[in-house]
Amino acid sequence: MGENHKKFEDLHRASGFINLNPLQRGGVLSDAARRVVPEWCDGYSVCDFCEGCLDRIKNPPVESFVHETLPEFLGTETARVTNGARESKFIVMHSLCEKGDCIVLDSNAHYTSYVAAERAGVEFFEVEKTGEPEYEILEDKYAEKIEGAKSKTGKPPKLALLTYPDGNYGNLPDAERVAKICHQYDVPLLLNCAYSVGRMPISAKKLGADFIVGSGHKSMAASGPVGVLGTSSEYAEVLFRKSEKYKIKEVELLGCTSRGLPIITLMASFPAVVERVKNWGEEVEKARKFSKQMENLGMQQMGQRPHNHDLMFFAAPIFFEISNRHKKGRFFLYKELKDRGIVGIKSGLTKHFKMSTYQLTGEEIERVVSAFTEISKL
Ligand SMILES: *Cc1c(COP(=O)(O)O)cnc(C)c1O
Repeated sequence: MGENHKKFEDLHRASGFINLNPLQRGGVLSDAARRVVPEWCDGYSVCDFCEGCLDRIKNPPVESFVHETLPEFLGTETARVTNGARESKFIVMHSLCEKGDCIVLDSNAHYTSYVAAERAGVEFFEVEKTGEPEYEILEDKYAEKIEGAKSKTGKPPKLALLTYPDGNYGNLPDAERVAKICHQYDVPLLLNCAYSVGRMPISAKKLGADFIVGSGHKSMAASGPVGVLGTSSEYAEVLFRKSEKYKIKEVELLGCTSRGLPIITLMASFPAVVERVKNWGEEVEKARKFSKQMENLGMQQMGQRPHNHDLMFFAAPIFFEISNRHKKGRFFLYKELKDRGIVGIKSGLTKHFKMSTYQLTGEEIERVVSAFTEISKL
């Protein structure tokens, strides 16, 4: 071993910027969670009083969180904490499907839905979206796609998945309607709520979903990696079946999932998350107002309009045009924003980019709008 590895001792991250990255806006810890971080950051810190089942640990109160709080919050009969939304999806696909089975999903689905399907060895059929600028999933197409999958493979799909909202445009399809259609064909529905659980009020029961999946580090103010998975008791037996050799360990969860700081921050932030969900209406208003201001500068917000989520996708021909003559080329937008204390738009993008106003203060939004205004005049 040389000396090169010593550099890892001195890792730091720039702070003090306004961050517009949709991926990171909902994962900022609550003050309460931040305070307890030093006590729980060592490996396996939650396991002091574990008797073999992570979700049965009473101190810290993982058991009541997993078995009482979380199902109530998700509107499900059972729930578990996982290592992420993708792990939750894989658990469902892997328990419900045999290799060679098929599922139906929306074409706005996140890449992790496709990769989870691939890992589970299942074929997928995609529900198309409408074209530019809305890119909407039409709920009724689920019927067509389920029938199509059935006639192509000779058997009905084992699962349908709806991304709610999707991570590109922030579109919220009518999930209740999709659930009804799927159930007419006896196909269970999984709602991928990586961008909604922890941001907006949402109940699997109300929407009629059989499975609901969330992401702690994306939308529940947790350091992560950590995710949540909720389902009805009907499917709980299949999903959370126990090992034959180790009678108390759940196979799909590989015995234990999130342990240590990820689950602690999820729990410690939870009271603040419950409160912020109540302010969802204000977040939507904020996003809509911001979208209008961006459009006044010559950009176009893609996806549903008026928009129903803080994640927004903009087409910005005006910035593309500037990038053609700016000395920093396509990196100009990133640099100009950073010079004004703003980060989170992917470096190198100008023509299209996504961003979020989630949890930004009025003053921060004003700074962002005036930065975009100045830059648009370059
Ligand atoms: C971010 C995201 C995921 C991945 O979440 P993880 O918790 O990191 O696995 C899945 N689906 C959507 C729609 C996302 O936006």
